[in-house]
Amino acid sequence: MTIAQDVTSQITRLRQHVADLHRELPRNALVVWTAGNVSARVPDADLLVIKPSGVGYDELSADNMVVADLDGNLVDGAYKPSSDTAAHAYVYRHMPHIGGVVHTHSTYATAWSARGEAIPCVLTAMADEFGGEIPVGPFALIGDDSIGRGIVETLSGHRSPAVLMRSHGVFTIGRSARDAVKAAVMCEDVARTVHIARQLGTPLPIEEHHIDALYARYQNVYGQSQPA
Ligand SMILES: [Zn+2]
Repeated sequence: MTIAQDVTSQITRLRQHVADLHRELPRNALVVWTAGNVSARVPDADLLVIKPSGVGYDELSADNMVVADLDGNLVDGAYKPSSDTAAHAYVYRHMPHIGGVVHTHSTYATAWSARGEAIPCVLTAMADEFGGEIPVGPFALIGDDSIGRGIVETLSGHRSPAVLMRSHGVFTIGRSARDAVKAAVMCEDVARTVHIARQLGTPLPIEEHHIDALYARYQNVYGQSQPA
């Protein structure tokens, strides 16, 4: 496969960016050992950059990131791509607006997935980031498109950028890889808080119109305005 010069420079930049974003996973206590991965879509090519399989977080660098095509096949890299590459690739094939995907087995969110229970929207921070509950996706085994299909089917038409794949863990999506990492961090944070609230009583639901207002404000107004 011949790669155009502008795409080569995008890949060089994304190798470093994706390696750097992986540091956020252990830093935010979302992963143990080598479980968990971040990928980014290469904007001007049907390619993605992802973590190599089985390499520890301390050893990740721009050089050992892996470039794969959107069928999950290795295109460039000294290592095999993450075993979750097929799921990431499926998301990029079917959700053209998505630029980043993250997968973790973060403890509290995965505990909700083990019960097959969506996290109810009982915190304003959840309304802001997720626009409602964090949904549960189907039970799916690694090895074919079933994980990717479960992510896309659950999140299509849903505000939440996070899905709890049943009995497995969390997948998040974002316009950028950084957005997907942020969603993974926020998902674990609210999963933990709502879990603790549940232990002591019944968390109070937030009315739908308040969720809508919080979501609209956070998505459109909050933060620094982006340069044009
Ligand atoms: Zn997994």
